[in-house]
Amino acid sequence: MYQLLQTCGQARLGTLTTTRGVVETPVFMPVGTQGSVKAVSPMELEEMGYGIILGNTYHLMVRPGVEVVQELGGLHQFAGWRGSMLTDSGGYQVFSLGKLRKLSDEGAQFQSHVDGAPLFLGPAEALDIQAGLGSDIAMLFDECPAWDAGRSQVENAVRRTLLWAKKSREHLATHKRLGQFHFAIVQGAGYGDLRKSCAEELAALDFDGYAIGGVSVGEPEPEMLEAIEKAAPHLPVHKARYAMGLGMPHQMVEMVARGVDMFDCVLPTRLARNGTAFVEDGMLNLENACYIRDRGPIEEGCACYACRNFSRGYIRHLIKAKEILGMRLVSLHNLEFYARLMRRVRQTIAAGTFEAFRTEFCGRFKHRGPALKGDNYDN
Ligand SMILES: [Zn+2]
Repeated sequence: MYQLLQTCGQARLGTLTTTRGVVETPVFMPVGTQGSVKAVSPMELEEMGYGIILGNTYHLMVRPGVEVVQELGGLHQFAGWRGSMLTDSGGYQVFSLGKLRKLSDEGAQFQSHVDGAPLFLGPAEALDIQAGLGSDIAMLFDECPAWDAGRSQVENAVRRTLLWAKKSREHLATHKRLGQFHFAIVQGAGYGDLRKSCAEELAALDFDGYAIGGVSVGEPEPEMLEAIEKAAPHLPVHKARYAMGLGMPHQMVEMVARGVDMFDCVLPTRLARNGTAFVEDGMLNLENACYIRDRGPIEEGCACYACRNFSRGYIRHLIKAKEILGMRLVSLHNLEFYARLMRRVRQTIAAGTFEAFRTEFCGRFKHRGPALKGDNYDN
């Protein structure tokens, strides 16, 4: 499914081919937590050039339930999305339920946050649910330890992740869904030897692609980069690599430089709803008083609908008044910014100028927005 076309340093230009089409990588995947990328329509995503989005298994299984999605034609038809779709395994959300769950080598017993119904998710169940949803790429069930967990806790999470990967492999031998690809997830927190052994053992099980998990879960940025550096070299060259839950624009560029192909993150849409816009040299908080009489667009030269038609002053007014259109306009701009960034990443890899682009972009992009802490992954 993954074809490596060209490299520039460790940065990789490639394609992902699913039954829905071909996606160029490196790629950013907008997050459609509940079967919808918040405030943005599938038509708008297509127009921005997005060919793959993400859906959250946990949210869809608790509401409306996988049977309902199946009855209404599967997740693509349900959500009116013609491109490719990746679903996570649901594990990450279940583990973040804390008290609501009980974890064993079999899987996780937990209660729905919507109606309290008892639910169980293990490696086979996670695959069956994703097969029911009908995503193009399904993620294996894994255990994601906290980034600052002690070594024995991380060792146990890696052991379980590998055990579940083997169980998933066995399950797929008899329950293979045609046209669906399966990605395994490397855990190991900040421990290089655990990242390496986890990556090598998963690679031996021969899945269609590999994710690096347990990043962007609240750890400082240098540790995030290190976790990727420790895992990426041990992954197969001719399979796609996905950094889960990432990230800020400069982080994605740094990850591409470390050989990562796929990203997903809620930041462009979540921050948009608070009036925070991404621009070339950082982030603008459109709630600031300095934009009250600003006639200019969010970003000069941006081709998005918001920048072509509305002033910062008007969008600031909408955000302050909590008008839905304001949140939509900034979401459209931010997703356009992310799409444009990834296009430039691909163009500069193709041209052999990625290193110069990386230096220029990361040198210029200053993080001036609100403090970013905790879970970037979910809503
Ligand atoms: Zn724009």
